[in-house]
Amino acid sequence: MSNRVDIVIPVFNESAAIKMNIEIILNELETAGLRSTTRIILIDDGSQDDTYASIQSLMADCSNVAAIRLTRNFGKEAAIETGLRHSSADAVITMDSDLQHPPSLLPQFIEHWKKGALVVEGVKRSRGDEGASSTVFARMFYWLFGWLADIRIDNHSDFKLLDRRVVDLYLKLPERNKFFRGLVPWLGHTSVRLPFDVSPRGSGQSTWSRLALFRYAWNNICSFSSIPLQFVSFLGIAAVGVSLVVLVIAVVQYARGTAVEGFTTVIFLLVFLSGMQMTAIGILGGFVARIYNEVKGRPTSVVGELAGPIEPVEATSNRN
Ligand code: UDP
Ligand code: MG
Repeated sequence: MSNRVDIVIPVFNESAAIKMNIEIILNELETAGLRSTTRIILIDDGSQDDTYASIQSLMADCSNVAAIRLTRNFGKEAAIETGLRHSSADAVITMDSDLQHPPSLLPQFIEHWKKGALVVEGVKRSRGDEGASSTVFARMFYWLFGWLADIRIDNHSDFKLLDRRVVDLYLKLPERNKFFRGLVPWLGHTSVRLPFDVSPRGSGQSTWSRLALFRYAWNNICSFSSIPLQFVSFLGIAAVGVSLVVLVIAVVQYARGTAVEGFTTVIFLLVFLSGMQMTAIGILGGFVARIYNEVKGRPTSVVGELAGPIEPVEATSNRN
């Protein structure tokens, strides 16, 4: 059995530490005797700082580091997919570039794969130095995702090893809008789970803003579940329920001969129903936009240049 492994690492604006971090990863591989069978594929996701120059200076000393430079920032999911598409190894490991995914676990990932595991997943035992509000947000997302998509991915991460078979299946999934962390469990292969503590970020800050995280979370929920659409019907039923109650109150007041509080009731109903309608249209619109994006079938990223030991792969839309 062949045992070549590619490590796919998306990188965005990490010039301060990228060189040092990759050297740490390479040292870890060296110590475990894995360096000669492992290639590192760095995907520069349109960094606006000196990240690509740092990557090039790193590559001057390392023969097993390759780089893919995207023409602009396409997002972490697209960067991971681009890396997977360019990989040719027997297994691929995906990890972050900021050392929050401990490189010391790499030999164990590979060990489990050599013993036959098709998927090895790094699962967060603790969430590192992230703030309380981020933890609450993450918990809510995972709870909602588990409930709506019926896939439990609590504390999962993008630190994973996939056997070639699983990589090929992943790449064949026709959708454009992919959520790696959700789709790997969706493929359903039994996995080995390796708990890890999220270390503090090597340098710099997380590149995700709150708004970006919120959009990412909602997007992922909607790409795994159409229940938000059905939620529109619940809203409608609730609205009918409320208006029936108002009707009963009006009839009772009429029977008692007391004046019907027409104005308040009408204003209330107007605001309530138009609020519901707008929510419903918004949810529908979100799904129509998603269908529109999928139908356009554009590639998820555009490669600007390649460097090091890596072959170009034609940029296709997933539908081809
Ligand atoms: N990243 C990327 N494109 C982006 C944002 C992030 O390739 O648009 C990379 C980033 O360089 C890092 C990984 O994705 O290697 C995780 O990003 P980050 O540490 O900012 O996120 P967090 O650890 O907070 O999830
Ligand atoms: Mg990070």
